[in-house]
Amino acid sequence: MADGKTKKRIEELVKLLNYYNYMYYVENNPVVTDYEYDTLYKELAGLEREHPQYRRADSPTLKVGGEPLKKFAAVRHMVPMLSIDNTYSKEELLDFDARVKKITETDEKNIEYAVELKYDGVAVALIYEGGNFLRGVTRGDGWQGDDITENLKTVKTLPLFIPYKKPLEVRGEIYMRKDIFMRINGEKKKSGETPFANPRNATAGSLKLLDPKTVAKRNLQLFAYQGIAENGAATHWEMLEFLKKTSFPVNPHRKLVKNIEEAIDYCVQWQSKRADLPYNIDGMVIKVNSLALREKSGATSKSVRWAVAYKFPAEQAETTLKEVRVQVGRTGTLTPVAILEPVEVSGTTVSRATLHNFDEIKRLGVKTGDRVFIEKGGEIIPKIIKPVPEKRTGNEKDIPVPHECPVCGGSIVKDDEGVALRCLNVRCPAQVKERITHFTSRDAMDIEGLGEKWVDIFVDKKMLSDYGDIYTNITYEKLMDLERMAETSSRNLVEAIEKSKDRPLANLVFALGIRHIGIHASEILAEKFGSIKELGEADEETLSSINEIGPVMAKSIADFFRNEENIRVIRKLKDAGVKTEQGRAEAAKSDKFAGLTFVITGTLSGYTRDELASLIKKQGGRVAGSVSGNTDYLICGADPGSKLDKAKELNVKILSESDFNTL
Ligand code: NAD
Repeated sequence: MADGKTKKRIEELVKLLNYYNYMYYVENNPVVTDYEYDTLYKELAGLEREHPQYRRADSPTLKVGGEPLKKFAAVRHMVPMLSIDNTYSKEELLDFDARVKKITETDEKNIEYAVELKYDGVAVALIYEGGNFLRGVTRGDGWQGDDITENLKTVKTLPLFIPYKKPLEVRGEIYMRKDIFMRINGEKKKSGETPFANPRNATAGSLKLLDPKTVAKRNLQLFAYQGIAENGAATHWEMLEFLKKTSFPVNPHRKLVKNIEEAIDYCVQWQSKRADLPYNIDGMVIKVNSLALREKSGATSKSVRWAVAYKFPAEQAETTLKEVRVQVGRTGTLTPVAILEPVEVSGTTVSRATLHNFDEIKRLGVKTGDRVFIEKGGEIIPKIIKPVPEKRTGNEKDIPVPHECPVCGGSIVKDDEGVALRCLNVRCPAQVKERITHFTSRDAMDIEGLGEKWVDIFVDKKMLSDYGDIYTNITYEKLMDLERMAETSSRNLVEAIEKSKDRPLANLVFALGIRHIGIHASEILAEKFGSIKELGEADEETLSSINEIGPVMAKSIADFFRNEENIRVIRKLKDAGVKTEQGRAEAAKSDKFAGLTFVITGTLSGYTRDELASLIKKQGGRVAGSVSGNTDYLICGADPGSKLDKAKELNVKILSESDFNTL
């Protein structure tokens, strides 16, 4: 590749992979399969190795994916929580073995490995002191993560007290069983919410919730797979046995092997057995067993060198493509969906697959009636990999590219990225229905009772032409005129609509349905701008200068507010009394310190007293002038006064400034 082209390709890959990372780690809404992600990642790593001069500082090869969220307190890891390099190839496992031998300069002919299942969940670090569960933290960016202790306390298999009193850090995976995942997604579909893409996303999404009571309902589980303690263990295997004895759930499916060949055999065995497990695994992890050798192996800035993950390729199956239907989404995107002869893949029956767009159909050269291979990666909607032209009978038909919207007959164009076709008619009933359903969903305006079914009816009956109509056109009287609407349901729906007018700004921003803007980005925008008006007035440059808002998102927001039709609908919302502003401070508010009283003493370094007091109040706490029996915490700066003595006397918990920041 010519130098200019290489540089451009590296830039493209960095941008794309960072976007995929954002969707995967922050929005919990992956847009490609792991295999696709890993293939692009490998291409980037290869190009960077050959052309280090073009390596960019923001390259995903330099950092652990994910980052701490602002809504939890950030905690620094005592030992970094790094990633594990992965491969889909057995040859590369042999290379790994050779590399370990070289780095550790071992004389051993064979290295002993512990081989474990690679659970498809979310990594956490659990800190114990004096036998008590003190704190639980996510991996975050590898150096610091989120304090999610309260959410982790709802995991029934996580021990809160252990018989080991010395300091201990346990690392493990929080996961959701497949049956629980199906149940939760069933409930989500019923209430018109977007279902989770897979159990991993459901786990990550649940751990990010601010209400532990809701987390408890998600029935999350734990597998412990690493211990960090001065307990005399010389090997990983001994450490796992110790964890088991100390009441941690350690998975029984693991094996201590004498060399890499045995490790590979064990990995292959699990490839076919994995569908029988009640939880998802996406591969196996091979770990050097000796802790001394591990120490010698070290780590790169991103991954440990003493372990490698062998990832299973996504499962494939062959079936017949019966027909292609074109769906029109919320933003007008036309998505061709393959209707298949039902077939079993990874333990579930698949009867639909996505074809992404019409360029993809052309690239695959697939026709209706073809025998096709489909693939299901990480539970994301299955996709068609390739047709089997040798099995054609002559009755197969070309799949036509639409020249107009299949729902409203309106004109269509290629979108900005030049791939997908989009219907330009913002009044297209398919788009209108999708937008309204999104608007009423739980993370958006949370209007219970206004799910897909009723939205269809209301749009068809011309009661709704956009989501702004919800507040004026759905009245008790009109509902009672409808055939299938009962009195109580009508009353409840009208109440739910009224209640939604006070939804927090972040939910309203999400409800607007701006392309590429998920709930997490909406929270950031609400906090930054404090009102829909200010958000609408921000230019692309201002928007993309915000941490976590990339240029694609910035453009999408600016485009949204340039559109007259959108402005008209937002005006309807305002006129109907929907709250469209709440001020930056209020948007950042939480009830984290509700019911807690703080007293401040001494000189602070990071805040003035007023700043600290206002921060506490914003989080729902109270600030008192003197220590009493009602004080929960004394925040103690340098040169504290007599308040410190009083606090000690009354056994009030004393926090340094940095303890407070952690809290
Ligand atoms: P990883 O998930 O491939 O491997 C490291 C993780 O494995 C650990 O953090 C831990 O959580 C987990 N793990 C499970 N069982 C384990 C065990 N027995 N021992 C130790 N660890 C165990 O790496 P990662 O850095 O978390 O994620 C990178 C991968 O995520 C990519 O390779 C890709 O497949 C996927 N990804 C996909 C997308 C997408 O859009 N589809 C985007 C970003 C990342």
